Amino acid sequence: MNKHKIAVVFYTLMSTSFAYADQGDEICFPLYKATGAIPGTSECQSLANTARVGMGTFFCTSEPDRIERYCLPKCSVPPLAPVTAAADAYENGEFSRSPDLGNVSSAVNNGLTCIQQRIPRAFPTSGYRPQEYQNHLREVWDKWQLLKNDSSAACATTKLNVKNEFTQHRMVHQPGLTSRHSSGNAVDISGVPEAVADTTAAACSMSRPVSNDHVQYEPH
Ligand SMILES: [Zn+2]
Repeated sequence: MNKHKIAVVFYTLMSTSFAYADQGDEICFPLYKATGAIPGTSECQSLANTARVGMGTFFCTSEPDRIERYCLPKCSVPPLAPVTAAADAYENGEFSRSPDLGNVSSAVNNGLTCIQQRIPRAFPTSGYRPQEYQNHLREVWDKWQLLKNDSSAACATTKLNVKNEFTQHRMVHQPGLTSRHSSGNAVDISGVPEAVADTTAAACSMSRPVSNDHVQYEPH
């Protein structure tokens, strides 16, 4: 290989070696592996740095990004999307501790009042939820299902974040893609004994139409 060719190969590898995998990974990863560097371990990066490189492969140890990509492989489940402004009041703000009953229909509010008159210890846990917040809840549910049995180092950080969210939201079933909550036509009510829930709901012009969601009440 003449000098010119080496320069071209080198430039091609350098210019494509940033955030994403490229053919240079196929060259470098076996060299890292040969040092005993094991992805996900704390000494991986320092070991990989000692890889035996030659003229055509010295880029393998001159690019921290590439070593990091070898040592900290990406989790196949992307991190949770940030909570949007529209959902933030529900995630962190005024509605994170008390439900939004200002944006549900009067039929929902009347039904809730009626149920609370009959069952004094009944209390609402969720009222109106914007679609953006519904999306967030569903994302947390779905990603937890993908990660709960994952023990890979690559997914550890994402898993911890998803777990914290999952614990915080206390979900017992997968949130729907859309929800009657997002149109102001549903309220979640806790504290109603299961044995009288349907008769109480009916007496208050409400019902529980979502079979896997025992706390969701909607007006007829
Ligand atoms: Zn959340």
